[in-house]
Amino acid sequence: MKEFRTIGVLTSGGDAPGMNAAARAVVRTALARGVEVYGIYRGYSGLIDGDIRKLGPRDVSNIVNKGGTFLYSDRCLEFKTPEGMAKAVATCKRLGIDGIVAIGGDGTFRGATDLTNHGIPCIGIPATIDNDITSTDNTIGFDTAMNTVIELVDKLRDTCESHARCNVVEVMGRGAGDIALNTAIASGATAVVVPEFPYDDNSICKRIKKGREMGKRNFIVIVSEGVGSEYGPALAKKIEAESGVETKFARLAHIVRGGNPTLVDRVFASRLGVFAAEALLRGESNVVVCERAGELVTLDINFALTMDNMYKNTLKPGQLDKFNEEEIAAMKARIDDRIHNLMQLYTVENKINI
Ligand code: ADP
Repeated sequence: MKEFRTIGVLTSGGDAPGMNAAARAVVRTALARGVEVYGIYRGYSGLIDGDIRKLGPRDVSNIVNKGGTFLYSDRCLEFKTPEGMAKAVATCKRLGIDGIVAIGGDGTFRGATDLTNHGIPCIGIPATIDNDITSTDNTIGFDTAMNTVIELVDKLRDTCESHARCNVVEVMGRGAGDIALNTAIASGATAVVVPEFPYDDNSICKRIKKGREMGKRNFIVIVSEGVGSEYGPALAKKIEAESGVETKFARLAHIVRGGNPTLVDRVFASRLGVFAAEALLRGESNVVVCERAGELVTLDINFALTMDNMYKNTLKPGQLDKFNEEEIAAMKARIDDRIHNLMQLYTVENKINI
């Protein structure tokens, strides 16, 4: 088995609150095992440029509670080129980096699998506020983002109540309605619009008109970013025109990506960090750490990414060829499970959204 003397840790892609807690857990777990740790700054860009520093236990003090990522993040296109990859591998060889824990989303895992194929074992930790990684029940930052959304929507609701208004609120989630569905329930929204399920503007307008007739003053409609940036503003105009209720539009956007992580995210990120570092040091690689029904497990990155493509309808021709029937059935079952869970939330929201 490969002996690890030095590992690296990086954060990449969209940042998420709790990335710091995960990186801290990776650093401290490895150091406790006598393994040195390099912090790789600005994601894969830092690996290409050599923007790398050795981290001691105190270098990760006072960050478990902080949003953002002290390692910074980047979207690095050069890493996708053979030249960029060669530079990254050369940096690892020069510094003696035997393996890397990469904290990020599906793009980050694609980079991690490429790097593993070039001889540097990598393990992925899922961190994205959207919770759009099919292989895991939870991602780092999701809980914090949802808590930020409900705090902001509660404020909008106060002013909607005072002025007898409606507010259409667009929340993040590029391909996934998880944030929208959960926060719609938690904030008592009148309606929710997500890409996973059919939506009908006319029925939303009717519901608001009826609510007003029955004396309801405030209305919140949560719209997921995944339905397109034009949708929310257009819906706000339509609601006002059809129901007569003054309607504002708010895009929460990146505000939801910042802020101190919640207890749930701090604990989850710490568990993932410890688990990932231990898995890497016992010789696992090309895997992503996932939570399934409360348990942490590792899943092959190629399997996880292919399942993700299947879920998002972005499979390339032939992509399933390297998987056997059992594996494909497992992917489909997981996808059905995910849709089932989202549908349950959607049903709850619809039952109580008068
Ligand atoms: P996220 O990890 O949040 O999904 P991105 O999709 O931007 O964010 O991916 C993060 C980084 O991972 C990219 O900037 C790039 O450096 C690397 N990456 C993404 N896709 C690939 C790929 N197909 N091959 C190699 N590296 C990739």
